Amino acid sequence: MTDSIKRRGFLKKAMIFLGLTAWSYKNIGSESFLFELDDLEDDFSRKKVSIDVEVYKFLLDNYKPNIEYMLNYTRDFYNGINVELNFRFVEKLNHSSLKSAEHLGLVILPEEENNGEGIALLENSLAVISYRNYSGKPAEKGDDYTSSVITHEIGHLFALIHSHRFRDDPVEDYSDGIPNIMSFRRKGKENSINDFQKKIVHSFLSKGKIYRQLEKIDFIFDSRYIGEIAMANNYHPVFQ
Ligand SMILES: [Zn+2]
Repeated sequence: MTDSIKRRGFLKKAMIFLGLTAWSYKNIGSESFLFELDDLEDDFSRKKVSIDVEVYKFLLDNYKPNIEYMLNYTRDFYNGINVELNFRFVEKLNHSSLKSAEHLGLVILPEEENNGEGIALLENSLAVISYRNYSGKPAEKGDDYTSSVITHEIGHLFALIHSHRFRDDPVEDYSDGIPNIMSFRRKGKENSINDFQKKIVHSFLSKGKIYRQLEKIDFIFDSRYIGEIAMANNYHPVFQ
C-alpha cells in the first residue's frame, strides 16, 4: 500500500467521522429522530374513530342512499386495516368538538363547490369533499370515484402522505396493479393500502410516534412536515 492511498484512507475515515458527528448533532438539535419512520410501534389493535358528517341539504334530500354507499365504502376500507369508523350525520358540525385521531368532521358539498375534489385539514380534523356525480353528468366514475376521494382525504386525517411524494419511501402508486388509496391513480373502488401505511395509521390513532410527530408541528400537515420526514429518513421528495 502506498503512502498516498494510506493518506486517502485516513482522510476518508476522518471525513466519515466528522460527517457522522455533524449528522448526529443536527439530529439531536432538531429532534429529527422523532421523525424517523423505521421504528414505529407494532400495535394493530382495533382503533375506533368517530366521524361527524355534514351534508349539503340538497344532496342529503336527494342522494342520501348514494352518500351512505360512499360512507360504507370508506368504512369497509378502513375496517380492512382494523380501524372502525363510526359515521353520524349532523345538521351542523361542531368544530370545537373535533379532535385529532379521535373525532373527525367530514363535509360533503355539491360538485360545483370544489370540482369533485377533496381537501383535508389535519389541524382542524376536517375533510371537505365535493360529490362528483349528482348532477347527472356522464358518470365516468360513478359514486365509486367519490368514495375513493372520501377514503383518500380520511387517509390524510390519519397522517398518510401521497404515495408519489417521496422517491424512496416504501409506498408506491400501485400494489400488484391496484392503485394506492393515497395516489392520484385512483379510478374507482379498487384501491390498496400497504403494511407501512397501516403502521402509520395505527401509530397515529394510538397516539404513538406519528401522533407525537404531528403534535410537534401543531398538526399542520405541510411542506415543513414533509421536510422533516425527508431529512430524518433520507427520502427524496418528488415535487409535481
Ligand atoms: Zn391528497
